[in-house]
Amino acid sequence: MHSTAKQQGDFTKTAELTIELLCQNVTVSLASVWTFSSDQQTQSLEAQFGSMMLQDIHRPKRLQDCPRYLHELQTHRYIDAGNTVIDPRLSELANDYFIPLQIHSSLEVGIRINGHLEGVLCLERAQVTSHWHDSEIHLACQMADQLALTLAIKHSYEKEESLSLFRCAAEQSKQISMLVNLHTEKVEYVNQAHSDITGIPREQIIGANLRELSFFKQHGELAEQSLAQIFKGEIVNGEVQFQRADGSHYWIQYVLSQFITERGNHYALVSSVENTGEHNYRSELERLAWRCGLTGLYNRTHFNRVLERTTQGVLLFVDLLGFKRFNDTYGHDNGDSLLIEIAHRIRHFPEFNKAIEIARVGSDEFAVLLTESNDLDYFSHRLYQHLSMPILIGREQIEPKPALAIVDIASVVGTFSPLTCADIAVQYAKKRKGNAIQVFNNALLNEFKEDAQIERDLHSAISGRQFELYYQPLRDLEQNTYIGAEALIRWHHPKRGVLFPASFINIAEQSGVINAIGSWVLEAACRQLNLWQHHNADMTMHVNVSARQFFSGNLFEQVWQLLIRYRLKPKTLILEITETELMGDVRHATLLCQELAELGVGLAIDDFGTGYSSMRYLKQFPISKLKIDRSFVSDLTVSRESREIVSAIIAMANALNISLTAEGVETVEQEAFLAKKGCHQAQGYLYSPALREPEFAQFLLLAQNPVLIAH
Ligand code: C2E
Ligand code: MG
Ligand code: MG
Repeated sequence: MHSTAKQQGDFTKTAELTIELLCQNVTVSLASVWTFSSDQQTQSLEAQFGSMMLQDIHRPKRLQDCPRYLHELQTHRYIDAGNTVIDPRLSELANDYFIPLQIHSSLEVGIRINGHLEGVLCLERAQVTSHWHDSEIHLACQMADQLALTLAIKHSYEKEESLSLFRCAAEQSKQISMLVNLHTEKVEYVNQAHSDITGIPREQIIGANLRELSFFKQHGELAEQSLAQIFKGEIVNGEVQFQRADGSHYWIQYVLSQFITERGNHYALVSSVENTGEHNYRSELERLAWRCGLTGLYNRTHFNRVLERTTQGVLLFVDLLGFKRFNDTYGHDNGDSLLIEIAHRIRHFPEFNKAIEIARVGSDEFAVLLTESNDLDYFSHRLYQHLSMPILIGREQIEPKPALAIVDIASVVGTFSPLTCADIAVQYAKKRKGNAIQVFNNALLNEFKEDAQIERDLHSAISGRQFELYYQPLRDLEQNTYIGAEALIRWHHPKRGVLFPASFINIAEQSGVINAIGSWVLEAACRQLNLWQHHNADMTMHVNVSARQFFSGNLFEQVWQLLIRYRLKPKTLILEITETELMGDVRHATLLCQELAELGVGLAIDDFGTGYSSMRYLKQFPISKLKIDRSFVSDLTVSRESREIVSAIIAMANALNISLTAEGVETVEQEAFLAKKGCHQAQGYLYSPALREPEFAQFLLLAQNPVLIAH
C-alpha cells in the first residue's frame, strides 16, 4: 500500500483506505481506527467502515476508564477475543459497548511507533464464530504497521513544519536572537536581525567563539560578568552601546538566559533589540530633567538625589558675590557668560577629577561633591584663586569674587542637610576679610540658630514697640556748638536686654525686615527733629539707611512725605549710607541720590575710607558729606599712615566742597589734629555716646549753658 495519502502523512485518509481494504479481505461487521492522545488518557476515532448500524453506541473516548484494556494493548501485540462477553481482557467494554451492539468477537491490534502505543485498529464481528484466524491476525497486524508508518510520517511532517515555522518567525523578527552553546562556547544560531542591526555578516558569527563577539570585545568586563551570571542560571539584562565597523554607534537592550535542551545541552539565549532612538530620547529627557541648560552641569534636583545617598566625603560650595548686581549692570547675556566661565573653571579644576558630582545648585551657586580630600585647606585656597582670576567679558575685565564653603558630610549627616550647612557657612565666608573661605563647624551652626531666633523676634519688635532711637551729638569744631545728632537704633529685647545694631541690623537686612525697621526709624527721627526744631531751627538729624532700604524703590516717596508731614527743612535731614552699599548699584544709586538732592535732603557717605569708592563716583554723586571712619580717627595719634589718610580725605573734601565729620573722636588730641587740618565736625565719646532723647535734650541744654554744669 503506497498511496499518496500515506506518503504525505495524511493519516485519516490512509486509515479510511486501510479499513476499507481490510473489510474486502476479512469478514467483519465493523472496522475502526483510533488514535490515542500523547498521555494515553483519551482516544479519538480516525476512520470507521462496516455494515453495522451503531445506533449511537460508541467505544468510550476516555481510556482511563478502561485501564485493563489499555494495559493489554500496551503489553501485547493484539487482543483476539472470540467471545467479547466473557473475555476478561475486554470486560471493561462489554456492558456498554459489545453487549448492546451484540458484537461477539473482536480483534484489537495496537498501532505502535518505536514500540510506543499510538492507537488501535479494531475489527468486530456480530456473528458467533470461533477464534480469529492466524491469517486474519497477520493481515490486521500488517495493516496496523502500515498505519503506524503513516502516523510516524505525519508526526515528522508536523514536527518539521513547526520547526520551520519557528525558524521563519525567528528570521522575520526585528529582535536579535542568538543561541550560544555553553559547552563549546560557540554561536550555533543567529537570526537575520543581527546582521541588519550590527552590519556583521552572519557567516562571521555562526560558529564563532563567543569571545569574538562585540559584547566581549567592546565591553569585556561586563560580558565576562554576565557570562558568569548565566552559568549560575541567572537572567541578565542590560543596555550597552556598540560601535559598528563604520564608526557609527547604536544602543542595544538585551536579555540573556540559559536553557537546557531535551538532550541535556546547555545553551545561552541572547535576545536583544536596538533601542538607540529610545535611549537617546530617554537621555535627552534625563538631561533636561537633571542638567542645567546653561552650564551643562547637573542641577540642584539631581545633586540633592546624590546627596541623599551620601554619608561621607566633602561638600564644596561656591557662591559668587555680587552676581545679581553684575547681571543688572552688565545685562543677562554677560551674566550668562560669567556663569559659563565659572562652571568651566570648576569642572576643569584638576582636583575635581575625582569629584563624584559637580552641579549648579542656584543661580550663582555651585556645589562639588568629593570623596575625602587630604589637603583641603591648600586646595580650597587654590580653587579660590583659580576662580578669582580675571575674566574678559566683552571688552571688560571682570574679577569674580567667589565665596567658598566646605562641609564635612559625615559630621552633619542625619542632623542637617549638607547644603543647608554650606549655605550657612558661605554667609560667614562672605563676611570675611581676605579669602572668603569658610569651613562649616558647630559654632557656626549655633550662631546661625541664634540669628534665626533673632530674625523671628525681629518680626514682633516693631509692633511690640521694642525699638528706641538714641541720639549721638554732632559737634561743630569751628563754632564749638552742637549742631545736630545721629539717630542710632537700640532694641529693648524682652529677654536679652538692650541690643546694639551690630547684633541685628545684618539679620534684618538679609531677611528683609530692614524695610519696616528703616521706615520706623525715619519716621521716629523726623518726628523728633520736628520737636527739636521748635527750639533750634537749624538742628540736623542724621539717619542711617541700609542698602536694601535705600534701593527699595519707595525711599524718595517716604522722605518726601515725612518732610511735608513734619514741616522739616530738607537740608536738616541727612541720610547716611556706607560707600560699599552705595557702590553696589552705581547707576541706580546715582539716580536716587540726584532725586533726593533735588528734594534738598543731605546725603552722607558713612564709614568713609573703609570701602572702595572712586573719585569719579564721588564727583558723580551729589554727596553733601563724608564721615571719616572711626578706625582712622582712633589711630591718629599712633599711626602716621592714618594721619596721612585723614589729611588727604580732608583736603579732598575741601576741594570738592563736601562737608566732613570725623567719627569716633575720643581724645582731645584727635580733636586738635582734626580741627587743625580743617575737619569741621566731630562725633564721638569725647563729647557723648548716643543718648536717650530726654538725656540728649538735657545734654544740649547743659552744653548751651555751661554755667548750669557748675551748679
Ligand atoms: P555708624 O552709622 O557708623 O554709627 C556710629 C557707630 O559708632 C555707633 O554705633 C556709635 O555708637 C559708635 N560710636 C560713636 N562714637 C564712638 C566712639 O567715640 N568710639 C567708639 N568706639 N564708637 C563710637 P552703634 O550705635 O552701635 O551703631 C553701629 C552701626 O549700626 C552704625 O554705624 C550704623 O551703620 C548702624 N545703625 C545704627 N542705627 C541704625 C539704623 O537706624 N538703621 C540702620 N540701617 N543702621 C543703623
Ligand atoms: Mg552712621
Ligand atoms: Mg559710621
